[in-house]
Amino acid sequence: MTATQTGNEIHPVLKNRLDLQQSDPQVYAALLGEEQRQRDGIELIPSENYTFPEVLAVLGSVFTNKYSEGYPGRRYYGGQTYTDEIENLARDRAKAVFRCEHANVQPLSGSAMNQAVYLGLLEPGDTILAMDLSHGGHLTHGAPVSHMGKLFNFVRYITNPVDGSIDYDQIRADAKLHKPKLVLCGYTSYPRDIDYQAFKSIADEVGALTMTDASHFGGLVAGDAMENPFDHGFDIVTTTTHKSLRGPRGGMVLSRKKFAKKLDKSVFPGLQGGPHMNAIAGIAVTLGKAQTDEFKQYAEQVLKNSKTLAGALMDQGAELIAGGTDNHMMVIDTVKSFGLDGKVAEEVLDQVQITTNKQIIPDDPNPPLKPSGIRIGTPAATTRGMQEGDMQLLASWLVTCLKNPGDEAMLAEVAEQVQQFCQKFPVPGLEGENG
Ligand SMILES: *Cc1c(COP(=O)(O)O)cnc(C)c1O
Repeated sequence: MTATQTGNEIHPVLKNRLDLQQSDPQVYAALLGEEQRQRDGIELIPSENYTFPEVLAVLGSVFTNKYSEGYPGRRYYGGQTYTDEIENLARDRAKAVFRCEHANVQPLSGSAMNQAVYLGLLEPGDTILAMDLSHGGHLTHGAPVSHMGKLFNFVRYITNPVDGSIDYDQIRADAKLHKPKLVLCGYTSYPRDIDYQAFKSIADEVGALTMTDASHFGGLVAGDAMENPFDHGFDIVTTTTHKSLRGPRGGMVLSRKKFAKKLDKSVFPGLQGGPHMNAIAGIAVTLGKAQTDEFKQYAEQVLKNSKTLAGALMDQGAELIAGGTDNHMMVIDTVKSFGLDGKVAEEVLDQVQITTNKQIIPDDPNPPLKPSGIRIGTPAATTRGMQEGDMQLLASWLVTCLKNPGDEAMLAEVAEQVQQFCQKFPVPGLEGENG
């Protein structure tokens, strides 16, 4: 925390914490615990990150108090001078950063943003072509357990069994057979790049809309380290704001102008009531940061770190799904590599304060809570300042622990080393407090 004394008065941010400490010691203790956890461990969950300190400042601000149903200039409540300013800033910056004609920054989460697109542009029962969950797609891409999976007719494509990559011939055949209204690409656990041109031409052949769910790699597109689907004529791009983009929790729907009205109406009043203006202020801050050279360097470093980590893991005998990575993440087949299911692997690494998540792999013979792999990624570690050399070290810790899951003495030693190592990399937002 960056609390400072101003003259004789206590800075409001510090005062808020002191009030919390006194009035609710239970919640305060949990907050301190989580701060400690984030400081002392290495975060490798690819969907997580450390947001900017300035984002924490606006998230914990009085923007929380404001109701702002509607859109700037057309609200259903008074007192919108500053909320309008903030939302206009967020929208304009989103359009500049993602080179698109329209932006809606109100979705409360990634799930809501995708639902708003389906419900706003399609009719229930319409066909959507999207990636299967176990092959890398997200729950909101029509997984049978999701409400959207019941409401729309999702046809789910899978990856090529030989090299683990997206199989464009198969997708073209599926598109011709099922005549989707929407072709969706984007993923939550797929380590390769996307051929947007191929998706676009497939969609054009059957007259479908094109959508990318860039939730995982939105920050890498914003930082010009990965391709922008709008440069390939895509209609809609959605992205969460809290993953590689480093913003507050939330979602954005970006689109061509001709979909603007329908999409805005779909978000509000179709799906949501009042937007979270503190989060929208955080999105504005984040998109301001995304325009800096520093952010571009971060985005490039995420990819360099990912390549280095994947290479080092494979050198030490780890089997990666699809044989490597082109983006910020990789999936280790822990059963093949170490004879451990993903649940055990995740738990072993938790013991040394390296946080990962168990991950279902393509055609996984094991159940989702005991799947065959773990998923790891580099955005959070990169935000903390880790570089290629650190990735080498990280890879050897990962392999040592996963090869010797029962060696308590060794695990304790690695845990100690990890904690020491983490002290070199301050957590944004927690700098200056206890080191
Ligand atoms: C994370 C994610 C979402 C959903 O985001 P939430 O904010 O968790 O609802 C949607 N799509 C993809 C591809 C994601 O990775």
